[in-house]
Amino acid sequence: DYEILHATGTHPKSDGFCRRPNMFKKQQQDVFEERYLRCISILGKGNFGSVELCRYDPWGDNTGDLVAVKELQSNKQATMADFQREIQTISSLHCDYIVKYKGICYSAGRLSTKLVMEYLPYGSLIGYMEKHRQNVCTRRLLLFASQICKGMEYLQSMRYVHRDLAARNILVASDTLVKIADFGLTKIIPVDKEYYRVTQPGESPIFWYAPESVSELKFSHKSDVWSFGIVLHEHLLIIMMQCWEFNSEDRPSFSSLQDMFENSLL
Ligand code: ADP
Ligand code: MG
Repeated sequence: DYEILHATGTHPKSDGFCRRPNMFKKQQQDVFEERYLRCISILGKGNFGSVELCRYDPWGDNTGDLVAVKELQSNKQATMADFQREIQTISSLHCDYIVKYKGICYSAGRLSTKLVMEYLPYGSLIGYMEKHRQNVCTRRLLLFASQICKGMEYLQSMRYVHRDLAARNILVASDTLVKIADFGLTKIIPVDKEYYRVTQPGESPIFWYAPESVSELKFSHKSDVWSFGIVLHEHLLIIMMQCWEFNSEDRPSFSSLQDMFENSLL
């Protein structure tokens, strides 16, 4: 009576709605075998983890799926237990605006576990914005912002606080879709409380933190809202950066800026 909730491939009900998983169904871990995972390149390194692009190729003929595989960086403070919690969190999330969990892969004789996720070809929002700086219109920025809000609304409905909402942790799936990623610092708010209080601060992205998180170590949906404000700032910075081009002829005119804003309201 097991149901594979995280079968590889796209979600059968991919219509833009986010659903709560059926908590009463037993979940089966999709285990990927390490010997069939072939590393293609490094996708990124964050504070705690490193993520590789791999092909899972059991037949060894390049027909296997591309996947993103995250593992703990060995020189970091975060422990395997923290990473197991991150895996547990992402495996419980089912939303079009959240990066999809595919399974796990044991390595070093089961001493360590890797997280296998869907691969998002455009990488993080930071990199995407840098690359497409000239042709990302305001309309697209606002679309991305609304998708992040939808993903966060879903996370909130599950009582999670993300605690690391930043453009580096938003991934771009296509020119019209972004997803929230990196649940390494995510916590559940206790049912009788409105916030989660951190006891061991550790390494923290404090430039994204709300005042109450810095001073009282309190994290809530509203502290995630503060971080979202920083994401918007990172996001709209790209428009401001155009105004600050060193060569004056590269700066947009007021009329083109005006067009850009007006078109985004259509
Ligand atoms: P950390 O917990 O160390 O910050 P992240 O989960 O944020 O690790 O991943 C680090 C970086 O790897 C991201 O900023 C992004 O550039 C890249 N990355 C992570 N997951 C994926 C993915 N599924 N597809 C493509 N790139 C990814
Ligand atoms: Mg990260």
